[in-house]
Amino acid sequence: MSDTIEKVKCLIIGSGPAGYTAAIYAARANMAPVLYQGTQPGGQLTTTNEVENFPGYPDGITGPEMMIELQKQAERFDTDVRNGWITKVDFSGDVHKVWVNDEKEIHCETVIISTGASAKYLGLESEQKYLKLGGGVSACAVCDGFFYRNQEVVIVGAGDSACEEAHYLSKLCKKVTMLVRRDEFRASKIMAARVKNTENISILFNTETDEVLGDEQVVTGVRVFNNKTNVKHDIPATGFFVAIGHKPNTDIFKDYLKLDETGYIINVPGTSKTNVDGVFVSGDAADHVYRQAVTAAGTGCMAALDAERYLAAKEH
Ligand code: NDP
Repeated sequence: MSDTIEKVKCLIIGSGPAGYTAAIYAARANMAPVLYQGTQPGGQLTTTNEVENFPGYPDGITGPEMMIELQKQAERFDTDVRNGWITKVDFSGDVHKVWVNDEKEIHCETVIISTGASAKYLGLESEQKYLKLGGGVSACAVCDGFFYRNQEVVIVGAGDSACEEAHYLSKLCKKVTMLVRRDEFRASKIMAARVKNTENISILFNTETDEVLGDEQVVTGVRVFNNKTNVKHDIPATGFFVAIGHKPNTDIFKDYLKLDETGYIINVPGTSKTNVDGVFVSGDAADHVYRQAVTAAGTGCMAALDAERYLAAKEH
């Protein structure tokens, strides 16, 4: 443990659109924000290719480019952006304590949580084996699709993410087989239509993964079963993509903050306030409904304004 404890007025945890927007507002309100980027600087958007629905970019922008711009904007107003992972918090007292990489201790007047959410996996032993081996299992088509150019891949999921990723992969790969566990998509009609109308995407409804097949080093195929008939068959593939949703990154807060049954932080409706005074939440860590870059940015703004008002009320 370090023996010098740093004192910070406004600590922001996370570097997606929520965290950077909170930083821009907090910095402009003279709150000298310190922002810790976490293990995935830029957050989930860095794994997104084209962002076409963020207002102000008529021609679209890539996710990584947008995050670089947001970071620059936050730093322009002197946000202290740091590498580091918050491993522990203690929100039991008036001063909120936070530890970076289990070492550095920071005492914060306000904390803004913008830790986002992480990709979910099926949890099959074979899936985890090839994921850990780096042998062909991925939860991010945009990050890893390149490695499967002109190859055959399988993707699981039926939401907007799965459709977006399947479509992305279809432009790189020879064939994309999409496994949908029900007899319909969850995705919006426009996204579902896009995959249905793509020639090299084959959609298997009522179909689930039995096992990811491989040669102990890399993926060679996927054994699937039809959940109506229980008939199994093997699909040759070198890549297995999982696009079945996300889990909020809120585990370290669970002893202090109210979470819902899936782990999303419960905020006071219409605000970014949590059940702990001086601790605010923004972005996907609290949002299981909208989960968009623009809504995350909006709630980042709310969190900074709420934090500023909290400090002003305390001073008076
Ligand atoms: P969703 O929760 O919307 O969808 C998850 C999908 O994975 C569902 O189809 C679900 O099936 C399936 N699934 C879950 N668990 C399993 C499993 N064990 N085996 C097989 N399939 C499984 O997550 P998304 O990440 O797709 O989307 C999250 C949010 O982000 C949504 O609100 C979405 O609209 C939004 N989004 C918007 C985009 C855009 O507009 N450009 C792009 C990407 C996301 P089932 O349907 O049977 O439950």
